[in-house]
Amino acid sequence: MRYYSLNDSTHTASFAEATIEGQGMDKGLYFPQTIPFFHKGFFQDITQYTREEIAFMVLHPYVKDDLPDEELTRIVSETINFSIPLVQVSNDIFCLELFHGPTQAFKDVGARFMSRCLGYFVRNNNKEVTVLVATSGDTGGAVANGFYGVEGVNVIILYPSGKVSPVQELQLTTLGGNITALEVAGNFDDCQALVKQAFSDNQLKEHLFLTSANSINVARWLPQQVYYFLAWQQWPYKSNPPVVSVPSGNFGNICAGLLAFKSGLPVRRFIAACNANDVVPHYLANGRYNPQKAIATLSNAMDVGDPSNWVRIRQLFENNLESLRSSVLAESITDRETLSTIEQVYKQHHYTLDPHGAVGYTALAHYLENVEDQKGYFLETAHPIKFYETIEPAIGNSIDKSIVHSLLTKKKTSIKISPDYTQLKDFLLANAR
Ligand SMILES: *Cc1c(COP(=O)(O)O)cnc(C)c1O
Repeated sequence: MRYYSLNDSTHTASFAEATIEGQGMDKGLYFPQTIPFFHKGFFQDITQYTREEIAFMVLHPYVKDDLPDEELTRIVSETINFSIPLVQVSNDIFCLELFHGPTQAFKDVGARFMSRCLGYFVRNNNKEVTVLVATSGDTGGAVANGFYGVEGVNVIILYPSGKVSPVQELQLTTLGGNITALEVAGNFDDCQALVKQAFSDNQLKEHLFLTSANSINVARWLPQQVYYFLAWQQWPYKSNPPVVSVPSGNFGNICAGLLAFKSGLPVRRFIAACNANDVVPHYLANGRYNPQKAIATLSNAMDVGDPSNWVRIRQLFENNLESLRSSVLAESITDRETLSTIEQVYKQHHYTLDPHGAVGYTALAHYLENVEDQKGYFLETAHPIKFYETIEPAIGNSIDKSIVHSLLTKKKTSIKISPDYTQLKDFLLANAR
């Protein structure tokens, strides 16, 4: 399989090159040249396979030219070595719990897969690879954890001081080893701007082998398909395919689901559940795509005003708005609705949502109210524990913190910098190996 740049289809790359480069030299996102199609029998017989077998079969066509089968087997088993249960919340609504990984967010899946692929592809390099990444919260922890201890890879994470939750901060500042956290006196946009400047600095490139681990990397995007297949494996109504609601920010997660759908996965409809950042709901309603500045909300990992993966979704539907509309709906949910859903679902169904999952739940519940005989699931993209400061007042109860207990006793180690590029550059050069 080769991948082409969405800015210039004549510019292509192998899976290994696309993983190392992140995006094309023309800044285009990579997209697979062909989309595999899985036989109906595979979906009918899916309960016969193990989770690892499913992950292997789904990803094999995308990576087989660059990863030997035994390597892929090892990587997928390390990627999904935690449970991904589909849990019933109400009569018609199920929850795909994606938070049982090491940093309690779905990003663990993509980060673990990418880290192991990159480690394999650079195993014979004589220079260490530096992964530079900006985070608004969850990416940092997942990337730190995924890459921790990976030979030949050094990770530097920039995060906005005081703007990530306490659990998120500890997840990216307490590992040590090959992981360094830079605490930037600024916001997420400042962190992102610093990273962008570093990537365009040719002088830096002479000293460092620099790469990114952000969500547009194919090695983070593609493995996210796997859990939609695992949800189908657990879906109890095989003759009535589910409506799937995905809390969306940069639209990488839903884009992976749509890729699975194009490969034959039975889904009735996708819902892009957004917070106040409503560029996509607007686009689906009136056909105009107007990127905005990000608005801060309770579901902060979805505060994105110009979702990077949107171009991939357009490509999947060949830029045809009507065909996109027939498969994808979008709704914007306010913070007030998010909080009231958290409270109500806790009271009625004894299920504790996090703010992101609550957006997904709300959009799905709204849709199901107006149709008959349909059922669905939403993706719970983070564990409520990551946002206990928001959840506890909403449910009027404290939540069990045992899974992060040892983390909460650790001491953070970060290096403070101001949002000034020379500080970042000096740091990177001083640490070049
Ligand atoms: C990153 C993130 C999202 C948004 O996912 P996208 O792939 O960017 O759409 C949603 N919820 C949580 C908890 C996240 O960390």
